[in-house]
Amino acid sequence: MPIHEQSLIRPENLKTHDKLVLDGVDVSGHWSTFIEPRVVTDYNEALQEEIAALPGGEHIHRCWQCGSCTNSCTVNAVNPDFNPRFWIYLIRMGMESELLRDKDIIWQCVSCNKCTYACPRDVFPEGVMKATAHWLELQGHTPKSKSTLFDEEFTEQVMATGKIEEGRIIRGFFAKTGQALMQDWLVEMAKRLARRLPIKLGFLMGWATIFRPRTRGWSRAGEAIEEYVHEQQAKQRKALSLE
Ligand code: SF4
Ligand code: SF4
Repeated sequence: MPIHEQSLIRPENLKTHDKLVLDGVDVSGHWSTFIEPRVVTDYNEALQEEIAALPGGEHIHRCWQCGSCTNSCTVNAVNPDFNPRFWIYLIRMGMESELLRDKDIIWQCVSCNKCTYACPRDVFPEGVMKATAHWLELQGHTPKSKSTLFDEEFTEQVMATGKIEEGRIIRGFFAKTGQALMQDWLVEMAKRLARRLPIKLGFLMGWATIFRPRTRGWSRAGEAIEEYVHEQQAKQRKALSLE
Protein backbone atom coordinates (compact mmCIF):
# COMPACT_ATOMS: atom_id res chain seq x y z
CA MET A 1 0.00 0.00 0.00
CA PRO A 2 1.46 3.42 -0.86
CA ILE A 3 2.39 5.72 2.02
CA HIS A 4 0.40 8.92 1.42
CA GLU A 5 1.53 10.96 4.42
CA GLN A 6 4.92 9.79 5.68
CA SER A 7 5.21 12.71 8.12
CA LEU A 8 2.43 11.17 10.23
CA ILE A 9 4.42 8.00 10.86
CA ARG A 10 7.02 7.87 13.62
CA PRO A 11 10.47 7.58 11.96
CA GLU A 12 11.36 4.47 14.00
CA ASN A 13 8.36 2.69 12.46
CA LEU A 14 9.61 3.20 8.89
CA LYS A 15 11.84 0.45 7.55
CA THR A 16 13.81 0.51 4.29
CA HIS A 17 16.13 -2.08 2.79
CA ASP A 18 19.16 -1.10 0.72
CA LYS A 19 18.92 -4.32 -1.22
CA LEU A 20 15.63 -6.15 -1.57
CA VAL A 21 14.33 -8.34 -4.37
CA LEU A 22 10.77 -9.66 -4.14
CA ASP A 23 9.54 -12.26 -6.65
CA GLY A 24 12.42 -11.31 -8.92
CA VAL A 25 11.59 -7.58 -8.78
CA ASP A 26 14.24 -5.25 -7.36
CA VAL A 27 12.47 -3.01 -4.81
CA SER A 28 15.60 -1.71 -3.09
CA GLY A 29 15.82 1.71 -1.42
CA HIS A 30 12.80 4.00 -1.57
CA TRP A 31 10.62 1.24 -3.06
CA SER A 32 11.23 -0.99 -0.07
CA THR A 33 9.85 1.37 2.57
CA PHE A 34 7.62 -0.56 4.93
CA ILE A 35 5.66 0.47 7.97
CA GLU A 36 6.40 -1.55 11.09
CA PRO A 37 3.17 -3.17 12.35
CA ARG A 38 1.83 -1.09 15.23
CA VAL A 39 0.49 -3.55 17.76
CA VAL A 40 -0.22 -2.28 21.26
CA THR A 41 -0.21 -5.16 23.71
CA ASP A 42 0.18 -3.37 27.02
CA TYR A 43 -3.16 -1.63 27.43
CA ASN A 44 -3.82 -0.15 30.85
CA GLU A 45 -7.56 -0.60 31.09
CA ALA A 46 -7.63 1.45 34.30
CA LEU A 47 -5.82 4.47 32.83
CA GLN A 48 -8.91 6.66 32.38
CA GLU A 49 -10.12 5.87 35.91
CA GLU A 50 -6.66 6.63 37.32
CA ILE A 51 -6.53 10.05 35.64
CA ALA A 52 -10.15 10.73 36.66
CA ALA A 53 -9.23 10.03 40.28
CA LEU A 54 -6.77 12.94 40.31
CA PRO A 55 -7.81 16.60 40.70
CA GLY A 56 -8.74 18.07 37.33
CA GLY A 57 -9.21 14.75 35.54
CA GLU A 58 -12.76 14.06 36.73
CA HIS A 59 -14.55 14.86 33.45
CA ILE A 60 -12.19 13.21 30.96
CA HIS A 61 -14.91 10.68 30.01
CA ARG A 62 -16.96 13.49 28.44
CA CYS A 63 -14.46 14.15 25.61
CA TRP A 64 -15.79 13.60 22.10
CA GLN A 65 -12.49 14.40 20.37
CA CYS A 66 -13.54 17.59 18.58
CA GLY A 67 -10.01 19.02 18.90
CA SER A 68 -11.08 22.52 20.03
CA CYS A 69 -8.69 22.28 23.00
CA THR A 70 -5.67 21.65 20.78
CA ASN A 71 -6.78 24.30 18.26
CA SER A 72 -6.95 26.94 20.95
CA CYS A 73 -3.89 25.81 22.93
CA THR A 74 -1.17 28.36 23.64
CA VAL A 75 1.60 25.77 23.84
CA ASN A 76 0.44 23.86 20.75
CA ALA A 77 0.83 27.09 18.75
CA VAL A 78 4.59 26.98 19.39
CA ASN A 79 5.05 23.21 19.72
CA PRO A 80 2.67 21.08 17.60
CA ASP A 81 3.73 17.98 19.59
CA PHE A 82 1.85 19.39 22.59
CA ASN A 83 -1.56 17.94 21.82
CA PRO A 84 -4.20 17.71 24.61
CA ARG A 85 -6.82 16.11 22.34
CA PHE A 86 -4.42 13.32 21.33
CA TRP A 87 -3.36 12.61 24.92
CA ILE A 88 -6.98 12.49 26.07
CA TYR A 89 -7.62 9.97 23.28
CA LEU A 90 -4.66 7.81 24.38
CA ILE A 91 -5.79 7.91 28.01
CA ARG A 92 -9.35 6.94 27.13
CA MET A 93 -8.05 4.08 24.98
CA GLY A 94 -5.70 2.93 27.75
CA MET A 95 -2.65 3.32 25.52
CA GLU A 96 -0.17 3.96 28.30
CA SER A 97 3.03 3.21 26.36
CA GLU A 98 2.01 5.69 23.63
CA LEU A 99 1.26 8.34 26.24
CA LEU A 100 4.67 7.79 27.85
CA ARG A 101 6.38 8.76 24.61
CA ASP A 102 5.33 12.35 25.33
CA LYS A 103 5.91 12.28 29.09
CA ASP A 104 8.56 15.02 28.93
CA ILE A 105 6.27 17.66 27.43
CA ILE A 106 2.88 17.05 29.06
CA TRP A 107 3.86 19.10 32.13
CA GLN A 108 4.49 22.14 29.91
CA CYS A 109 0.82 23.24 30.05
CA VAL A 110 0.88 26.88 31.14
CA SER A 111 -2.61 26.81 32.67
CA CYS A 112 -3.88 29.62 30.46
CA ASN A 113 -7.25 27.79 30.32
CA LYS A 114 -7.97 28.76 26.72
CA CYS A 115 -8.85 25.10 26.16
CA THR A 116 -11.25 25.17 29.10
CA TYR A 117 -13.28 27.93 27.45
CA ALA A 118 -13.12 26.28 24.01
CA CYS A 119 -14.25 22.82 25.15
CA PRO A 120 -17.91 22.20 24.29
CA ARG A 121 -18.14 19.26 26.70
CA ASP A 122 -16.83 20.80 29.92
CA VAL A 123 -13.97 18.32 30.05
CA PHE A 124 -11.62 20.94 31.58
CA PRO A 125 -8.64 19.89 29.44
CA GLU A 126 -6.33 22.08 31.52
CA GLY A 127 -7.27 20.02 34.56
CA VAL A 128 -6.72 16.81 32.60
CA MET A 129 -3.23 18.02 31.63
CA LYS A 130 -2.48 18.75 35.29
CA ALA A 131 -3.89 15.38 36.37
CA THR A 132 -1.84 13.60 33.71
CA ALA A 133 1.38 15.36 34.74
CA HIS A 134 0.58 14.45 38.36
CA TRP A 135 -0.08 10.82 37.35
CA LEU A 136 3.30 10.67 35.58
CA GLU A 137 5.02 11.92 38.75
CA LEU A 138 3.15 9.56 41.08
CA GLN A 139 3.94 6.59 38.85
CA GLY A 140 7.61 7.56 38.83
CA HIS A 141 7.74 8.19 35.07
CA THR A 142 8.91 11.79 35.55
CA PRO A 143 10.51 13.74 38.38
CA LYS A 144 8.41 16.39 40.11
CA SER A 145 7.95 19.33 37.76
CA LYS A 146 8.79 22.89 38.78
CA SER A 147 5.09 23.60 38.77
CA THR A 148 4.50 20.83 41.34
CA LEU A 149 7.41 22.04 43.48
CA PHE A 150 5.98 25.57 43.43
CA ASP A 151 2.54 24.28 44.46
CA GLU A 152 4.12 22.29 47.30
CA GLU A 153 5.98 25.32 48.62
CA PHE A 154 2.81 27.39 48.43
CA THR A 155 0.71 24.74 50.22
CA GLU A 156 3.30 24.15 52.94
CA GLN A 157 3.34 27.85 53.72
CA VAL A 158 -0.43 28.13 53.88
CA MET A 159 -0.70 25.10 56.17
CA ALA A 160 2.06 26.36 58.47
CA THR A 161 1.03 30.01 58.82
CA GLY A 162 -2.34 30.67 57.18
CA LYS A 163 -0.64 33.38 55.13
CA ILE A 164 1.20 33.80 51.86
CA GLU A 165 4.45 35.73 51.86
CA GLU A 166 5.74 36.04 48.30
CA GLY A 167 9.39 36.58 49.19
CA ARG A 168 9.52 33.38 51.22
CA ILE A 169 7.69 31.41 48.54
CA ILE A 170 10.22 32.51 45.92
CA ARG A 171 13.13 31.69 48.24
CA GLY A 172 11.69 28.26 49.08
CA PHE A 173 10.91 27.53 45.42
CA PHE A 174 14.43 28.48 44.32
CA ALA A 175 15.91 26.29 47.07
CA LYS A 176 13.73 23.32 46.02
CA THR A 177 14.69 23.71 42.36
CA GLY A 178 18.39 24.41 42.98
CA GLN A 179 18.26 27.93 41.56
CA ALA A 180 20.40 30.83 42.78
CA LEU A 181 18.47 33.49 44.66
CA MET A 182 20.33 36.36 43.04
CA GLN A 183 18.90 36.26 39.54
CA ASP A 184 19.18 39.26 37.23
CA TRP A 185 15.43 39.60 36.65
CA LEU A 186 14.72 39.36 40.37
CA VAL A 187 17.34 41.95 41.31
CA GLU A 188 15.95 44.28 38.64
CA MET A 189 12.38 43.77 39.90
CA ALA A 190 13.46 44.42 43.50
CA LYS A 191 15.23 47.63 42.43
CA ARG A 192 12.13 48.90 40.63
CA LEU A 193 9.89 47.95 43.53
CA ALA A 194 12.19 49.69 46.00
CA ARG A 195 11.88 52.90 43.98
CA ARG A 196 8.08 52.89 44.01
CA LEU A 197 7.07 50.93 47.07
CA PRO A 198 5.72 53.01 49.98
CA ILE A 199 8.22 52.79 52.87
CA LYS A 200 5.67 51.34 55.28
CA LEU A 201 4.72 48.53 52.88
CA GLY A 202 8.41 47.75 52.21
CA PHE A 203 9.02 47.56 55.95
CA LEU A 204 6.03 45.23 56.47
CA MET A 205 7.20 42.93 53.67
CA GLY A 206 10.71 42.75 55.13
CA TRP A 207 9.29 42.11 58.61
CA ALA A 208 7.02 39.32 57.33
CA THR A 209 9.94 37.69 55.51
CA ILE A 210 12.04 37.52 58.67
CA PHE A 211 9.46 36.79 61.39
CA ARG A 212 6.99 34.49 59.55
CA PRO A 213 3.76 35.86 61.09
CA ARG A 214 0.85 33.43 61.49
CA THR A 215 -2.86 34.06 61.23
CA ARG A 216 -4.27 34.29 64.76
CA GLY A 217 -5.79 31.00 65.95
CA TRP A 218 -4.52 29.23 62.83
CA SER A 219 -3.26 26.01 64.47
CA ARG A 220 -6.55 24.07 64.32
CA ALA A 221 -7.41 25.28 60.82
CA GLY A 222 -3.88 24.42 59.62
CA GLU A 223 -4.10 20.96 61.15
CA ALA A 224 -7.51 20.35 59.56
CA ILE A 225 -6.20 21.36 56.13
CA GLU A 226 -3.11 19.19 56.56
CA GLU A 227 -5.26 16.22 57.55
CA TYR A 228 -7.49 16.75 54.52
CA VAL A 229 -4.49 17.01 52.18
CA HIS A 230 -3.02 13.77 53.54
CA GLU A 231 -6.41 12.07 53.22
CA GLN A 232 -6.68 13.12 49.57
CA GLN A 233 -3.11 12.04 48.82
CA ALA A 234 -3.78 8.61 50.35
CA LYS A 235 -6.99 8.33 48.29
CA GLN A 236 -5.13 9.19 45.09
CA ARG A 237 -2.34 6.69 45.80
CA LYS A 238 -4.95 4.02 46.47
CA ALA A 239 -6.75 4.81 43.17
CA LEU A 240 -3.44 4.31 41.39
CA SER A 241 -2.80 1.06 43.33
CA LEU A 242 0.33 2.58 44.85
CA GLU A 243 -0.50 1.41 48.37
S1 SF4 B 1 -4.37 25.44 29.74
FE1 SF4 B 1 -2.69 24.15 28.95
S2 SF4 B 1 -3.67 22.71 27.55
FE2 SF4 B 1 -5.10 24.40 27.90
S3 SF4 B 1 -4.74 25.87 26.26
FE3 SF4 B 1 -3.49 26.53 27.98
S4 SF4 B 1 -1.50 25.53 27.66
FE4 SF4 B 1 -2.98 24.48 26.32
S1 SF4 C 1 -12.29 20.47 23.34
FE1 SF4 C 1 -13.15 19.11 24.93
S2 SF4 C 1 -14.40 17.63 23.82
FE2 SF4 C 1 -13.09 18.64 22.31
S3 SF4 C 1 -11.27 17.29 22.14
FE3 SF4 C 1 -10.80 18.83 23.67
S4 SF4 C 1 -11.36 17.94 25.64
FE4 SF4 C 1 -12.37 16.73 24.03
